[in-house]
Amino acid sequence: MISLVPSVYRGRFAPSPTGPLHFGSLVAALGSYLDARANCGEWLVRMEDVDQPRCVAGADGQILKTLDAFGFKWQGEVMVQSNRTERYRAAFDQLRANGFIFPCACTRRQLAGGATAIDGGQIYGGRCRNGLRNGGKARAWRVRVGDDDIKFDDTIQGRITQQLQRDVGDFVVLRADGLFAYQLAVVVDDTDQQITHVVRGADLIDSTPRQIYLQRLLGLASPGYAHLPVAVDSSGVKLSKQSLAAPVVAAQPLRALLAAWRFLGQVWGDEAAPGDLREFWLNAIRDWEIDRVPAQRQMPAPVYSR
Ligand code: GLU
Repeated sequence: MISLVPSVYRGRFAPSPTGPLHFGSLVAALGSYLDARANCGEWLVRMEDVDQPRCVAGADGQILKTLDAFGFKWQGEVMVQSNRTERYRAAFDQLRANGFIFPCACTRRQLAGGATAIDGGQIYGGRCRNGLRNGGKARAWRVRVGDDDIKFDDTIQGRITQQLQRDVGDFVVLRADGLFAYQLAVVVDDTDQQITHVVRGADLIDSTPRQIYLQRLLGLASPGYAHLPVAVDSSGVKLSKQSLAAPVVAAQPLRALLAAWRFLGQVWGDEAAPGDLREFWLNAIRDWEIDRVPAQRQMPAPVYSR
């Protein structure tokens, strides 16, 4: 009798629909996809549109169309964050019931001047940590962080240690504009999609300890993490949809995929360049080795002709 063993590897790609897929996001899609497929795992897609003001109408469909044209195959329905407010609220209520979060009345002006956090933001000075002052109205809600070290072993970047109080400060889970913060949404989503391995750009590595912290407060398991180098332009700025990085062109998927493959330190062996997408995926899934991915957080984007 054949028994069906459930896949033990579930990976994901979680683009924000703020513009078309560019080389930087292709790298994240490719790395997460190949690692899942090479481990006989499943790969899911999630549209991270929780930050509504940053989203661009139609970008979600455009990203999915490009992924499909490139030959990525995802499992099941695409999860869409804007449909999941109830799930985020449930997590928020759980944090609140346990006294892990507090309302914060601080305006942008009151927050200004704090020390710089590890991700370039500002460390919260703790003004509302012990209760709102007279007449203060809750604008946002923050998680109270501790002074213990949060550690994890990143498959590519090695051991990462962060002390949230020193490096980040109490961070926002419900924003002043009423939207749930990315940090909370991603933790709830990774759990609900039963993600076992998060492979994404190293621009998010400084967020990972906050996510692990939230997982602990919510009693959730942490997935494994691997952070890929991020493609930067000639002046060292991350390629992003905001910086209007050139979109990858759906009509020429092979060149872009091969450039992303090489960017991730992978070798094509002695064989001739792949003649078609089928051949690319066959060989790429067979030959992918995560140990070859450079342990750098940033690398210059290659120039490849489209
Ligand atoms: N939505 C994020 C981005 O597009 C990725 C978040 C994640 O992979 O956790 O940069």
